[in-house]
Order: sequence, then C-alpha cells, then structure tokens
Amino acid sequence: MDAYHPSAKFHPGRADTLVVYCSDSRIQAAVQEFLASSLNLGGSYDVLAIPGGPQSLTLIEYLPKLSWALGKWLRFLVDAHELKRIVLIAHQDCGWYKQLPFHLFGSSDPRTRQEDDLRRARRSLAGDFPQVLMDLYYVTWDANNRVTIEAVAG
Ligand SMILES: [Zn+2]
Repeated sequence: MDAYHPSAKFHPGRADTLVVYCSDSRIQAAVQEFLASSLNLGGSYDVLAIPGGPQSLTLIEYLPKLSWALGKWLRFLVDAHELKRIVLIAHQDCGWYKQLPFHLFGSSDPRTRQEDDLRRARRSLAGDFPQVLMDLYYVTWDANNRVTIEAVAG
C-alpha cells in the first residue's frame, strides 16, 4: 500500500487563530505564505475556505441559511478551540461576487464592495465574539501575477 510521509509534523497544540477566506485556487499559495510568514502563524491555524470567504456572513436577508451555516461553523470553532483571533480575507476578481445580485451592494466598485463586506462581516462577528481580535485583508495581483496583500482599515 502506498503511503506518503509529509515532512510537516502533526501539531499537538491548538492554534488560536481562524482564517476565513475564499476557496479560489489562484490565491492559495500566496495566502498560505502570507499567513505563515507575515502573520507568523506557521502552519498552525484553523481554516474555513469557502466561495467568497466571509462574504456569506453578510447575506442574512438574501441567503439566510448560508449565513446561518457559516455563523454556526464559526461559533463551533471559536468556542471549541477557544480562538482569540479571526482573519478575514477577500480577493480581487472573486467569482462568488459575480453571481450575486447587484442590488445587494452599495458601491459599483468591486474592491469597495468587498471591503465593505469585510467590515460588515467583522461587525456581525464582533457582536457574537467581542473578546476575539479581527483582522481584515484584501488580496490583489498585477499583470505579472505578483500578489499584494493589504490590511483593510476601518
Ligand atoms: Zn473568491
């Protein structure tokens, strides 16, 4: 029987951070490097990788079951793993946004829309988890596929 033995070891301790971001394959390597090297998380953090990342938290009226499910998973992880920090990440050219009805958004600029949604998601989470730190980031890339990840203020 074939078996693979990763060089990475099992982490016996619990991480204190949850990262919520998009499933999009194009950003995975860059985001994982950012989490390991810039946020110093190494390979130790909980992950919810779903289409649109944290955006579904803002869909309480349009897709309430989706919003409820994401909230439920978040609550489970924060409570069961005693998490102290949640990192919310959005990215340019997100396919999830392209299938949402336009009337949901207050801005016609895609980045502004997504940054507004990150802030709305944080507000919604802050009500449920006032003790948890939250950081927001936005991922972009240029014509040469060089990635930039910036903190979202406000
Ligand atoms: Zn996406």
